[in-house]
Amino acid sequence: MAFEGLSERLQGTIAKIKGKGKVTEQDVKLMMREVRFALIEADVNLKVVKKFVKSVSERAVGSDVMQSLTPGQQVIKIVQEELTQLMGGEQSPVKFSTRPPTVIMMVGLQGAGKTTTTGKLANVLRKKYNKKPLLVAADVYRPAAVQQLQTLGKQLSIPVFDKGTDVSPVEIAREAIELAKEEHHDVVIIDTAGRLHIDEALMQELKDIRALKEPDEVFLVVDAMTGQDAVNVAESFNEAVGITGVVLTKLDGDTRGGAALSIRSVTEKPIKFVGMGEKMDALEPFHPERMAQRILG
Ligand code: GDP
Repeated sequence: MAFEGLSERLQGTIAKIKGKGKVTEQDVKLMMREVRFALIEADVNLKVVKKFVKSVSERAVGSDVMQSLTPGQQVIKIVQEELTQLMGGEQSPVKFSTRPPTVIMMVGLQGAGKTTTTGKLANVLRKKYNKKPLLVAADVYRPAAVQQLQTLGKQLSIPVFDKGTDVSPVEIAREAIELAKEEHHDVVIIDTAGRLHIDEALMQELKDIRALKEPDEVFLVVDAMTGQDAVNVAESFNEAVGITGVVLTKLDGDTRGGAALSIRSVTEKPIKFVGMGEKMDALEPFHPERMAQRILG
């Protein structure tokens, strides 16, 4: 299960302070030491850990907490609030264009789950937002990706625009946006190329697609299982092409939590969705508050 280790450790730490009728600065200090270790062990970014510990500590030793009748519970409430803030506070909705089609670019490294997520996202947008999406197969460097998207499209009965692998992704995206206008698709989701590593050519291509029509969303798909690597990938993509949100995949696995807890704080971009499995309905909006509650039990 995701965050299992982190959850267990934080819950253990919290249990010690929960029922206390009096909480001293020393108690808070000791608790935060354990929280710090738990976060580091969960592969949370060091800077993020420091910031988090500082915010909680400052609030927890305030006189309103110390003098309250239930200081232990107040401290726990602070931990929960700060954890929620760390993951972005509010749920961040998808931004749709006021002048359709809304253009959503899917970016990410190979294997992160980009193509699968492209299909899942189309499914969610159709089901929950009543949209009529067009999928675009612009990942021309991995020939199987075009086929994979076509297969997903058939399975979902959602049209997929493809021009094989010989046409440039920029041209494919351009034609797809034109077609979407003609056929009244209100959302265009472009599955761009993923590579094994971040390189200049990939970033340039993404910038060129971006330049066609300013996308309403650029979603970076990252694998939660890769922890701090996912955070570094998010930072690089954000600097090079600019992203508007993150989709964290494979949260159904036993990821430690580092990516989920660090990405927002490091990139200042929200986690919009989480992947909870391989099936086409396994994509959920990311709710920071619920996630914090789940972690703290
Ligand atoms: P791409 O190279 O980034 O396009 O990656 P794919 O979409 O081909 O996905 C790579 C693998 O990850 C596939 O086997 C997917 O089924 C799997 N995958 C994608 N998202 C999830 C998820 O949320 N949970 C799980 N368990 N597997 C996923």
